[in-house]
Amino acid sequence: MTRTSFTLTATDGAARTGVISTPRGEIRTPAFMPVGTAATVKAMMPENVRATGADILLGNTYHLMLRPTAERIARLGGLHKFMNWERPILTDSGGFQVMSLAALRKLTEEGVSFRSHIDGSRHMLTPERSMEIQRLLGSDIVMAFDECPALPADRTRIEESMRLSMRWAQRSRDAFGDRPGHMLFGIQQGGLEPDLREESAAALKAIGFDGYAVGGLAVGEGQEAMFGCLDHAPGFLPEDKPRYLMGVGKPDDIVGAVKRGIDMMDCVLPTRSGRTGQAWTRHGVVNIKNARHSDDPRPLDEQCSCPACTGYSRAYLHHVYRAGEMISGMLLSWHNLQYFQEIMQGMRDAIAEGRFAAWEAEFDAGRAEGDIGPL
Ligand SMILES: [Zn+2]
Repeated sequence: MTRTSFTLTATDGAARTGVISTPRGEIRTPAFMPVGTAATVKAMMPENVRATGADILLGNTYHLMLRPTAERIARLGGLHKFMNWERPILTDSGGFQVMSLAALRKLTEEGVSFRSHIDGSRHMLTPERSMEIQRLLGSDIVMAFDECPALPADRTRIEESMRLSMRWAQRSRDAFGDRPGHMLFGIQQGGLEPDLREESAAALKAIGFDGYAVGGLAVGEGQEAMFGCLDHAPGFLPEDKPRYLMGVGKPDDIVGAVKRGIDMMDCVLPTRSGRTGQAWTRHGVVNIKNARHSDDPRPLDEQCSCPACTGYSRAYLHHVYRAGEMISGMLLSWHNLQYFQEIMQGMRDAIAEGRFAAWEAEFDAGRAEGDIGPL
């Protein structure tokens, strides 16, 4: 099979479930993508990431272009081979991270020039260069190059930025060309303004993409404002293409986004929390560093089948965290990634069976009843 496709198999309210087919395997939606920033999902072997239920990983163009460079990865056989992950990979365009991480940024119609946060070297990212880097990496799902202003921002800034991103979306489409087996996603912008979201979606649809991201959210606006935007923004996008919400989020953000019609998400939260002693469970957040866990023989979560929960007590997890042992980050990252994938599987099943509202009520009740409580 050299082509890609998206098949919606069921809907329940605005929530959707389906399958994205690629030559490297199927992606069940709604999908959560673990983040492999530097060609690794931190503290996890690739086969273990797969064992948690992940169908696809996200790689970061900005980080990989600077180190070890896209050209080097291409010479070594591409990102899948380099990081030993044969299943699908989505790469971001670098646009968001260059604006949040790089030094001495200069934004022009052409693109963004900047200095590396690693060694100060000079670089330029444009729609054409972003498409080239993502092609060198061998990404299965390529993101259009866009500009994403932090919120809150005034309407004029949001409007000018969105229109620039739409011109860049056309340049991304032109530079991507025809690549069977690979998908190009456009990114809707427009901040929290419904009419700008609609204008952006119309511009993207006129260009034509294999999928569409709702961009410019999870940038400081808060959950209520994000959900307010998701109440209308996905509805402007084509129904028969995947919809991706970038950089989201906490479990309740993910559930709320799926409820509003989102098919794909990514976030560093499960692995980052895993390294800082936080476990996400169906009973809320467990801060394993707390002294109350030091004698607790119970697992993190009796119902979880991950190695941290089947092989170890809270007391052990507390001990290795306090002792600064590497296995602490390994076990908690695995647990968190598996819990996030269990949420996705639970939602996929519930949508397929038309009981999403009941599933969501159970999810909310579990988080409220726990001995730790929601964060
Ligand atoms: Zn677990």
